[in-house]
Amino acid sequence: MHLSTKLIHGGISEDPLTGAVSVPIYQTSTYRQKKLGQPGEFEYSRSGNPTRLALEELIAELEGGVKGFAFGSGLAAIHTILSLFQPGDHLILGDDVYGGTFRLLEKVFKPLGLSYTMVDSRELSQLEGALTDHTKALYLESPSNPLLKIIDLEKSAAWAKEHDLITIVDNTFATPYLQQPLALGADIVVHSGTKYLGGHSDLVAGLATTNNQELAERIGFYQNSVGGVLGPQDSWLLQRGIKTLAVRMDAHQKNAEIIANFLVNHSAVAKVYYPGLTDHPGHEIAAKQMRGFGGMVAFELVDESKVANFVESLEVITLAESLGGVESLIEVPAVMTHASIPKEKREISGIRDGLIRLSVGIEDITDLQEDLERAFSVLNEER
Ligand SMILES: *Cc1c(COP(=O)(O)O)cnc(C)c1O
Repeated sequence: MHLSTKLIHGGISEDPLTGAVSVPIYQTSTYRQKKLGQPGEFEYSRSGNPTRLALEELIAELEGGVKGFAFGSGLAAIHTILSLFQPGDHLILGDDVYGGTFRLLEKVFKPLGLSYTMVDSRELSQLEGALTDHTKALYLESPSNPLLKIIDLEKSAAWAKEHDLITIVDNTFATPYLQQPLALGADIVVHSGTKYLGGHSDLVAGLATTNNQELAERIGFYQNSVGGVLGPQDSWLLQRGIKTLAVRMDAHQKNAEIIANFLVNHSAVAKVYYPGLTDHPGHEIAAKQMRGFGGMVAFELVDESKVANFVESLEVITLAESLGGVESLIEVPAVMTHASIPKEKREISGIRDGLIRLSVGIEDITDLQEDLERAFSVLNEER
């Protein structure tokens, strides 16, 4: 089956009991046991629920994992994955990972004894430099957030394997439609289902999967023990979103490419970050490991002081956190999504105060371009 077919028919896509083509929402916490001490496949909905299972089987199939896991948010998924480590363990992570991942490590896991080093993970020499006797994992995002840095996942995972490290990849920006990290050598993939997978800005969810049976058992143990599972309603909604991922992603990419080129040619724009641009430093690697360049674009204005004016002047494009929905969303990472990273750390990794991140939606491209043009002209009037 091709991936766009798997999105629709993969995992458990029908109700075996009734033939319903949409898996029903099993809104139940518990299940009748016919014989004492012999529960059926499901016994309690934290441990397992048929609607959630359909989604879990789907993400495993899409990413090439042996088992999938659904959580109440992307961060709940990441929290469960980080629970695999012990006090004293050390992790190496990319220097512009999602702000919330950084906060989780710094404020929740570091006090419990987990340590980490952030490096520019595009450079193997930097990974080498960060390696200690206690390093247990390499945690990567590609394309990264918000700078859309591209990491060679195959090369990094091979390096990690040589050093007996687990490679964890946050695949939220690319989705399994564009990139499959497990096939490139990663061990665990995590997702914020809130973004492209859900795709309609109407739910918060997280997913994880692995192709390693032993890791799958450990993740399952923590999922059930910590309990941050996704409810049946949202599991259903997320599975519904995933069915249209291919058509949405194609539309996102088509618009993003046009917007990136439009911004490159605009005199008020100083710099554009989009892996589809041939002068993007990760362009070749992205072309090799991804099916397309995604729907995220970041840029800097020539006049950084105009950032607030610019984003507030937009009418179609919405000023909001999050990304990956059908509607275009714009944000300023230094003030919004990445505010939890201290300014010095942000600047070292290149996230300047004037950086703008645009999640290009699937609206008519003319409306998006006119909206940007309008906001640029407001800046000119103010001079
Ligand atoms: C949003 C996001 C997360 C966190 O997911 P939530 O669903 O908001 O908890 C993690 N990683 C990336 C790359 C994200 O964009």
